[in-house]
Amino acid sequence: MNPLLRTARHTVQLGVEHLRLGETTRRRLLVPDRELAVHLPIRVGGEPRIVAAWRIQHDLARGAGKGGVRFAPEVDRDEVLGLAATMSLKNAVADLPYGGAKGGVCVNPRELDEDERAALVDALAEAFGGFVGPEIDIIGPDVGTGPGDMDRFVAAWSASGSHDRPEAVATGKSVDAGGLEARTGATAAGCHEAIRVARDHLDLSTGATVAIQGFGSVGRALARLLADDGHAVVAVSDSSGGRHDPDGLDVDRLAGGKEDGEALADIDVGSGVASIEVLTLGADIVVPAALQSVIDADLADQLAHTALVVEAANGPCTVSGIERLGSLGVTVVPDICANAGGVTGSYHEWRASMGRSTVDDPAAAIRSTVARCNREVWERADRDGIDLRTAASAVALERILDATSEV
Ligand code: NAD
Repeated sequence: MNPLLRTARHTVQLGVEHLRLGETTRRRLLVPDRELAVHLPIRVGGEPRIVAAWRIQHDLARGAGKGGVRFAPEVDRDEVLGLAATMSLKNAVADLPYGGAKGGVCVNPRELDEDERAALVDALAEAFGGFVGPEIDIIGPDVGTGPGDMDRFVAAWSASGSHDRPEAVATGKSVDAGGLEARTGATAAGCHEAIRVARDHLDLSTGATVAIQGFGSVGRALARLLADDGHAVVAVSDSSGGRHDPDGLDVDRLAGGKEDGEALADIDVGSGVASIEVLTLGADIVVPAALQSVIDADLADQLAHTALVVEAANGPCTVSGIERLGSLGVTVVPDICANAGGVTGSYHEWRASMGRSTVDDPAAAIRSTVARCNREVWERADRDGIDLRTAASAVALERILDATSEV
């Protein structure tokens, strides 16, 4: 089974067992409410190709589906289902009025030229058609997609029929097309709040050292926020390699270099290390902010002295990694609370696109939602004597089941 689906199911299972839910409920939570699978005839790198695409609505009890669409060469139906289930839990734990959904297209976006990419998004908008909509299922960007794709999707989707508020079918749009400025830094800001809440509970000070795998939009912004707090960010990496300085890296120089197009491995700050090594260099706080399924049992063994792992990426730990970290006593803030800032930002964008009332300061609202949901999960964990993943799952499942009609 796809490791990401296995991790998502494990998280659901932890909540099911803690809440002593029955077998029928458990089975219902493991299968999606609705799913669409299509094959799109497009051109990739000048060659005709048929690519597989999915949109999976895992649970719609709490509202419209909400989740991104990823373009990735290895994505398959099970990965999309795992990510959709993760979104159901995340939206519930953040108490957003959404169910969980996700989309995926099995394509390497780097192989698409501009016109091919536009044609793929148009084909997707046509294929998704009435399966999505502002009050049915709202898409957003994910790995391999961005604001330009969302703008294009809205344009193609609105041309395909008569829709009220077609711009609300997608979030993560460019600001000119109705996107929310605060959405860009929302996931990092939410991770920052998750770390602050964890710091209070674990009596960690801002003297704790930090390592971050992934120096993209989330990892880079988070590194800056933590360095501003006074943390020594001792190791960061991207796909080109990593940089390490036990006394703390010059984060601004690294982030500036990366934003100017330099590969992290080539920036002359600290010493060079392998990408994966940054996780195991002995930092107090370890943040996987790049890849799924990267912390397995073997890697977890090397994190025995880590105080806190914060899952900025979706599903960065395999089930064996989660179990090993648990047995080593390492605290893990699961993705469903750690990276909920992104979808919270999307919620505010969607409200504006729907013409509904908006908050004056979305950036502050995003932070306060993520801080609140993390505090609730810590309180539940303390009250019931359980780990954070089980507590987050239990909080989310109670909300989902509250909204579910009995059969
Ligand atoms: P991004 O594409 O901007 O950045 C990804 C980073 O990971 C890049 O720096 C890339 O070089 C790096 N990377 C790739 N392979 C690597 C490797 N082998 N070792 C080390 N680094 C590697 O993506 P992002 O938006 O920053 O998202 C990062 C993660 O956070 C993803 O898992 C994503 O699903 C998750 N996430 C993002 C958001 C969001 O709002 N952007 C929201 C929720 C979850």
